[in-house]
Amino acid sequence: MTDPSLCALCPRLCRYACPVAQGTADEGATPTSMAQAWRAAKAGDLPWKAAADVLSRCTGCMACKAPCELEQDVPSYLYEARAEAWTNGAVPDGAALMHRRYLDSGNPFGADLTSSLREHGDDDDFERKGRVLFWPGCRSLHEQPDLVAGLMPIFRALGADHVSLPARKETPCCGAPLRAIGDDAGFQVAIAANQQYFNRQRTWITPSGECLNAVREGYPSTGNAITAEVLHLSEFLLFFAEQLADLGHAAYVHRAENGLPAPQVVVFDSCGVGRRAGRGDAIYGVLEAALGSAPPSFAPSPGRTVCCGAGDFHDLRRPDAAAQTADWAAAQGVAPPGSWLVTTDAGCMGSLRGRLPGVEVYDLVGFLVAWLGPVVTTGAKASTPAPSGLKANG
Ligand code: SF4
Ligand code: SF4
Repeated sequence: MTDPSLCALCPRLCRYACPVAQGTADEGATPTSMAQAWRAAKAGDLPWKAAADVLSRCTGCMACKAPCELEQDVPSYLYEARAEAWTNGAVPDGAALMHRRYLDSGNPFGADLTSSLREHGDDDDFERKGRVLFWPGCRSLHEQPDLVAGLMPIFRALGADHVSLPARKETPCCGAPLRAIGDDAGFQVAIAANQQYFNRQRTWITPSGECLNAVREGYPSTGNAITAEVLHLSEFLLFFAEQLADLGHAAYVHRAENGLPAPQVVVFDSCGVGRRAGRGDAIYGVLEAALGSAPPSFAPSPGRTVCCGAGDFHDLRRPDAAAQTADWAAAQGVAPPGSWLVTTDAGCMGSLRGRLPGVEVYDLVGFLVAWLGPVVTTGAKASTPAPSGLKANG
């Protein structure tokens, strides 16, 4: 059972697994230091403001769980600790800035995300056709609204024409950023704004690890579980594996006809979808269907996936530390120049872009649009066999 006092007394057994401690060489980023800071603040031995700063140094990646002999769930108790700091008026500067943006715009980026998607999507994409909602999450809407809209024709080409985007009046954020900074009251307000809408869906799908975990575990932790089936995008797409294979075959032919080589694809196993949610395998099935062979993992060894530094909006709360963590992560695995690195979580792509020379970084949405978009747009058919030697990863 998770007990922060065990971490406070521990000789930092997980120190070398923690990407933040490794990337920043900051001993304050270990669970031991964070649990000690929380305990000291509760005892009145440390100002809550100082404790809140220490408690913010975690991406929620759960890499500390593997070396831990005591099965501690550090991210869960840090949510509780940050909430206690919040009620004591202690909010780190980065979290306060993110919160101000949220209050101004309804999302942590301070942008009008509803308008940005409206610019790119077709009217029909927002109409409720079935009870399957594609929830892009605020980060995707901020970083790639064009690709989010570009996925809708691919859903239709796969036969998933019952999928719709959030209705235009809906808020684009599930509240995950508020949970990450300890604003429990704000998180409850966000849940109240979304819960009925989500409950009207039969299936709720997202490419975001943050949204997946907020709705999968955060909503129930407040007694507000939703009734819709909650799936990562990769899990939903596995239902369309045969159609993915047909379109993937057409993509090979299309690229060959246009003199383009087949990309070598590598998977970046994102912590939020894999370790946190236990949903990290489906992307391999999706990519195998779309590419004809299973891609390798970026992880240095099986199960040893690395955190990109952006989990729990760490990149918005502590940009410098997140950048150092991302540098460390990029150095842990191998993605050859010219390859496509596909992240399981939309939250990782921005952190990894530009850190791997010659590598195109996509999340699953971006990969599908880049790989299948041209054949869906042109209506190309898989009528001719793919030229030999053109299989990706082959
Ligand atoms: S998570 Fe486990 S290994 Fe890490 S400090 Fe806590 S008790 Fe020790
Ligand atoms: S959850 Fe990840 S970032 Fe947080 S303490 Fe554990 S290993 Fe470090």
